[in-house]
Amino acid sequence: VNETFKRALIGIVGEANFSDDILDRVCYAYDASDHAHRPEAALWPVSREQITQILAFSSEHRIPVTPRGAGTSLTGAAVPVHGGVILDLCLMNQILDIRIADRRVVLQPGVIYADLERALAPHGFFFPPDPASSSVCTIGGNVATNAGGIRGAKYGVTRDYVLGLEVVLADGRVMRTGSYCIKSSSGYDLTRLLVGSEGTLGVITEILLRIQPRPTAVQTGLALFDSLQDAGQGVIAIMHSGVVPSVLEILDERSIQVVRGENGVSLPEVKAILLVETDGFTETEASFQMEKVIEVLKKHRAVEIRVARSPQEAEALWRVRRSIGSAAARLRPSNVSEDVTVPISRITDLLAGIAAIVGRHDLPFVVFGHAGDGNLHPRIMYDPADPDQTRRVQHAVGEIFRLTCDLGGTLTGEHGIGLAKAPYMGYEHDPVEMEMMRAIKRLFDPHHILNRGKMALDG
Ligand SMILES: Cc1cc2nc3c(=O)[nH]c(=O)nc-3n(C[C@H](O)[C@H](O)[C@H](O)COP(=O)(O)OP(=O)(O)OC[C@H]3O[C@@H](n4cnc5c(N)ncnc54)[C@H](O)[C@@H]3O)c2cc1C
Repeated sequence: VNETFKRALIGIVGEANFSDDILDRVCYAYDASDHAHRPEAALWPVSREQITQILAFSSEHRIPVTPRGAGTSLTGAAVPVHGGVILDLCLMNQILDIRIADRRVVLQPGVIYADLERALAPHGFFFPPDPASSSVCTIGGNVATNAGGIRGAKYGVTRDYVLGLEVVLADGRVMRTGSYCIKSSSGYDLTRLLVGSEGTLGVITEILLRIQPRPTAVQTGLALFDSLQDAGQGVIAIMHSGVVPSVLEILDERSIQVVRGENGVSLPEVKAILLVETDGFTETEASFQMEKVIEVLKKHRAVEIRVARSPQEAEALWRVRRSIGSAAARLRPSNVSEDVTVPISRITDLLAGIAAIVGRHDLPFVVFGHAGDGNLHPRIMYDPADPDQTRRVQHAVGEIFRLTCDLGGTLTGEHGIGLAKAPYMGYEHDPVEMEMMRAIKRLFDPHHILNRGKMALDG
C-alpha cells in the first residue's frame, strides 16, 4: 500500500491497529496450509463501521482484502495470494447475547470456539460442530468455511446452526440475513449461501447461532475387525438401525499400525477399527443405544468390542483415535491431510481406492475419519525438500479427488476449497454451476477485492 492508502487506512482503524511491519507481513503470509504470500499490510478493525469504511475505500482503489480469523485454514483460504490487506477479526470477539429461552446466541466473528463453549457450559448448552481446532479457531472462520467435526453424523455442521448473519459487502454496504426464528421460509436463503463462502462474498461482522442442550450421558466403545469390508458394512448397518451415534470413527490398517504402542495404546493386528460414542440425557438412553450398536457390530463380525466402564477407560479408547496425528507425523517431515467425503455406502470403496492410489505412488499414509458422515482424512506423509516425493504426493491427491467425485462424493466435507482444492472444482461442479458461482461472486464483489484467487471464482 502506498503512503496515501496507508494514511487513509490508519485514519479508519488508528495507528495501533494498522501494521505494514515486515514481521506482521511475514506472519500473515501463512495459514495452516503449505501456501504462503505476504500481504502489504494488516488491519485489526474493532467495529462494523470501520469495516464498512475499509471495504468502501478498498473497492474504490481496488485493494485486495483477505478476511482472517485465527488462520487455521488447511487449504490456504486465509493466505492473501494477491497481496493487499489482511483484515484480522480477532479484536471483534464479544459474545453479545445468550438467550437460552430462544435457544440462540449472537456473537462477533472473532470469538474463539472454545470461549463460546465455556460461555454456554453453565447453561447446559453447546454449539455442536466442534472442529478439532476448537481451542484456537474463530466462529467467523467456522461460518466462512462451514466447519464440521467428529460429531457431524448426529449433530451436523456449522451451516445447520447459523440462523442469520450481518455482513459487510465489498462496497461497504451492510446486509442482514436470516431470522431470529428457528424456522423461516422467507425469500432466498442468503445465510446458507454465505456460510462456506470463505470470505469471497463479504466480511461477516455478526453471527446468530442456534444452540442445543448438551447431552449429559455418554457411552464409548471400540470395535476391532479382521476385514475392512466388515467394518464398512457395520457402519451402514448402524445407520439403518435407528441409532445415530454421536461419534462413529473409522481407522484403517495403517492407522492402527502407527498408533500401536503410541501413548500406551495396545492393539492386536487387525484390519479396521470403529470408535463409537452414543449420547443422551440419561445413562439408560446412552447405554441402550450402545447395546444396539454392539448387537449390529457383532453381526458384522467384529472380533473384539471394548466398552468403557469409566471416564478413564473412555479416555484410553479415545487415545487410539487421538494418537494417529502425532504418530503419523513422525514418518516424514510433512504431510497433506485431505477431507474427502462420500455417501456412507461408498466408504469402503474410497478406503480401498485411496490405498491403491497412494500405494502406487509409494508413499507412507494413513486413512481415518468420520465414517458416520462419510468424511475420511487420508493423510500422506512426505518430505517437501524432495521434489520427487512432492510431485508424487500431488499426483496422488489429484487421483484421490477424482476417485471421490467418481464415487458421488465431494472434495471437502469440512475444510473448504481455498487455494489447495481450487484446481479440482471442475471434478465436482459442472460448468453451468461454476458459471453461476462466478456470477454470484461478480454480483457481490464486482471488483474482485474480497479473497481473490480462492475457490476457482476468478474469471
Ligand atoms: C490442527 C487443525 C485441526 C483442524 N480440524 C478441523 C476440523 O476438525 N474440522 C474443520 O472443519 N476444520 C478443521 N481445521 C481447519 C480450520 O480450523 C477451520 O477451517 C476453521 O473453521 C478456520 O477458522 P479460523 O478462525 O482459523 O479461520 P481462518 O483460517 O482465519 O479463515 C478461514 C477462511 O474464513 C474466512 N474468514 C474468516 N473470518 C471471516 C469473517 N469474519 N468474514 C468472512 N470471512 C472470514 C477467511 O477469509 C478464510 O477464507 C483444522 C485446522 C487445524 C490446524
